[in-house]
Amino acid sequence: MGWKTLDDMDLAGKRVLVRVDINVPVEGGKVTDATRIERIVPTLNDILAQGGKPLLLAHFGRPKGKVVPEMSLRVVLPALRTALGRKVTFVETLEALERGTEEQTEADVLLLENVRFHPGEEKNDPDFAKRLAALGDIYCNDAFSAAHRAHASTEGLAHLLPSCAGRLMQAELEALEAALGQPKRPVVAVVGGAKVSTKLDLLGNLVEKVDHLVIGGGMANTFLAARGVHVGKSLCEHDMTETAAQIRLKALDLGCTIVLPADVVVAKEFKANAPHEVVAVTDCPDDAMILDAGPEAVTRIEQIFAEAATLVWNGPLGAFELEPFDAATNAAARKAAELTRAGKLVSVAGGGDTVAALNTSGAAEEFTYISTAGGAFLEWMEGKTLPGVAALGG
Ligand code: ADP
Ligand code: MG
Repeated sequence: MGWKTLDDMDLAGKRVLVRVDINVPVEGGKVTDATRIERIVPTLNDILAQGGKPLLLAHFGRPKGKVVPEMSLRVVLPALRTALGRKVTFVETLEALERGTEEQTEADVLLLENVRFHPGEEKNDPDFAKRLAALGDIYCNDAFSAAHRAHASTEGLAHLLPSCAGRLMQAELEALEAALGQPKRPVVAVVGGAKVSTKLDLLGNLVEKVDHLVIGGGMANTFLAARGVHVGKSLCEHDMTETAAQIRLKALDLGCTIVLPADVVVAKEFKANAPHEVVAVTDCPDDAMILDAGPEAVTRIEQIFAEAATLVWNGPLGAFELEPFDAATNAAARKAAELTRAGKLVSVAGGGDTVAALNTSGAAEEFTYISTAGGAFLEWMEGKTLPGVAALGG
């Protein structure tokens, strides 16, 4: 890990450009979930404690290089002040920041208007990056969730100023490194969710890195169909069976076991509490669909978890939004949580629906790390280089 942290920097009296992700949900002019704002507080407090002065750079929505008043970052100001318990001064334009004012000098923390109002941001325009760089002495990137984009504020700046990772970025990188970089073995990956086609790169990378690959959810149906198993009306990408077979062969070559369910929960309707039964995986009726893994499959998964040292998880094992088809996901999540609590497992999970599923199961809090980084987490799991991390020297 070649990147620096805040501990490696001399921040006293320095202006620190901090790239953050505060792209929070807003309704009726109010922030409805301040989680992302709360998560940057440790970084800002550490900078302030060392005598540094943070200038926050962030995007909000997709204004595509134009000033779109509805996408002003001003809306997050009250939530930011509350989370920090400090004065935050909003600066509407880059020009105003370049001119400087007494209010800006006196502020604890400055927040610049949406960087994506400038066309140079997403183009990673060198001149725009230079203008930003001139406003600070040090660059601190705390936006892992934007690190898969090479923008001026996520990548360009790292080449122009002494740079480091913020606390959130640091925590994310350390967790991911522990999970797939230099993991303790055996490593098990769970990949679930709807479709094989959206997770091809992920599956391809994981079979190279992990010892066991548990496949669940809709995509397990495609792997089953590839083996000639009849899956009835299940969600299944019949045009992807060839690809699934290739992934299986690759896994076999590399000594990675692919784990598919031995039994499944089937129903005739895709709705909550639809009449359902547990059948052997080879016995899915023609007019039914597989909506969850069965109890035998769950026991097998729990055994694999118990023998593993590291777990990475993306994608639910069943149609978890519909009770009771969340049962396998919940049971496996609770087992992972229990092993993590006992110090026997390093568990890392991410993905929009995965995080929602683990939160509802109540297991999320016990996991070693839950990534909320979305696209960046997935690209990282796919083995891709994240430009924002690479620019920090990672
Ligand atoms: P993530 O957002 O964590 O990456 P995905 O979006 O890939 O996860 O997958 C989640 C979706 O997969 C959920 O909407 C869930 O209902 C669906 N799903 C899982 N198993 C099944 C199944 N057996 N049949 C139909 N849909 C399923
Ligand atoms: Mg999803």
